[in-house]
Amino acid sequence: MRRQFFCSLLLAVLGAAASSQPEQDFSRLEILREPGQPRWLTMYSQLVKWPTHVYPWWFNPAQVPADLDANDVLLAMKTAAARWTQMCNIEFQYMGITNVPPDARLGYLPDGINVWGFSSAYPLAGFASTAVNTHGAITDADILLSAALSWDLEQIKSIMTHEIGHALGLGHSDAPSSIMFAMPYHPFDYTSILRGDDAIGCAALYGESVHAMANRTMNWAEVTYPSILIAHTDPTPYADSIKATPAETVQGHGFIFRYYAHANSYLAVKDGVLYFLGQDNVLHNVGELADLHYIVTASGF
Ligand SMILES: [Zn+2]
Repeated sequence: MRRQFFCSLLLAVLGAAASSQPEQDFSRLEILREPGQPRWLTMYSQLVKWPTHVYPWWFNPAQVPADLDANDVLLAMKTAAARWTQMCNIEFQYMGITNVPPDARLGYLPDGINVWGFSSAYPLAGFASTAVNTHGAITDADILLSAALSWDLEQIKSIMTHEIGHALGLGHSDAPSSIMFAMPYHPFDYTSILRGDDAIGCAALYGESVHAMANRTMNWAEVTYPSILIAHTDPTPYADSIKATPAETVQGHGFIFRYYAHANSYLAVKDGVLYFLGQDNVLHNVGELADLHYIVTASGF
């Protein structure tokens, strides 16, 4: 049985000056949209983003599920953040441990401490609360996961990937293929891998990262060829829904590459060419990214 997650984004505290009346705004506005072309949305009536392209965040390990190690949870959160950095020029600056709880009160005032953690204060599985000022700058974004639910690490990576999208300024996309789509929410295994619409939305806010197309192509390959590109398949209570866990992208030897331990194989990109290294230990030229571009984007990546 597939499990879906439920989350929500909320709401602007418009009016940066302390003297102004905070105003809640649930509206979303699509920008630069072609008629009939579903696509990513921003959360507010303007593009909002972290103005310096740096999102500092703290981890609160309180209420981490008892069967999980807090360090593993922290690593899962960093893994989710790295998926966005693959696509756009946003830096996640990990600031350390805090005992400040993640804040999900409606209409809360930003404290500048962006906390990722667990909470029983909100009924949804995941939640991102984001405050912006009148200049379109995100000033505060907390993310909380429900402390009332059981989680495994793959699910935490998945839901964090979606919630981080909110914390970067993205709303729920109109594109059903995107992980930011929420009508209905995608199951956890799907949200392991960013789609093209997510990458384009993030790039519209922060600029496209230098390796965005390489990462989008590798994401496509992982979903298209799961038998040779599954990173690992840890048995979990929800193993039936975790089909693929995308591998980390790392750099070395002039390549950017991903290693798939389950199949002992690699995907790698160098000079605009995608390579596959399998168990035969031969570096196969899959094709040029420019030539693969059409099938990658047409497949939703
Ligand atoms: Zn959402």
